[in-house]
Amino acid sequence: MKKLEEYVQSIPDFPEEGIIFRDVTSVLQDPDGLALAIDSMKEKLTGIDFDIIAGTESRGFIFGVPVAYALHKAFVPIRKKGKLPRETISESYDLEYGSAVIEIHRDAIKPGDRVVLIDDLIATGGTIKASIRMIEALGGSVEKIVFLMELAGLKGREQLKGYDVESVIIYE
Ligand code: IMP
Repeated sequence: MKKLEEYVQSIPDFPEEGIIFRDVTSVLQDPDGLALAIDSMKEKLTGIDFDIIAGTESRGFIFGVPVAYALHKAFVPIRKKGKLPRETISESYDLEYGSAVIEIHRDAIKPGDRVVLIDDLIATGGTIKASIRMIEALGGSVEKIVFLMELAGLKGREQLKGYDVESVIIYE
């Protein structure tokens, strides 16, 4: 059986020269790759007590929902600004050029809710850090953070000290 790493295609110079893009669509388009990805992320949650999986737009949805479904947990989307219809809170974070804003429904997390965060990939950690700030602002606790892939060279994990973080594939 193929290993998960073997389903990830690495695209040099995308979206810019010098960047190696780790393409998750090559995992999804193979039924064995998709099953292995979801099962591997689900396994990382063995023994964790939690109520909700939150995932960031858009690839956090692809992995977050099937894991939530498999473990019979709720799923809460964290979306780009302006997409959620009810009352939201928001957070901004820095991008290489400029900044971005993400939002979550105010009633999606209640004080005391135990939340797991899922995303496809951690690079600098800016997206996940902004997500953590929103969950904690609403009174939730982040019990675990699971990524399919981690670009360790960008040191995103350093922003997550004190949190339980696991990645299925780590690129040094
Ligand atoms: P961060 O906020 O710098 O950690 O960036 C993480 C976000 O950027 C994730 O939500 C990814 O979807 C996206 N991203 C950054 N680099 C890559 C890559 O090489 N492949 C796929 N997604 C990437």
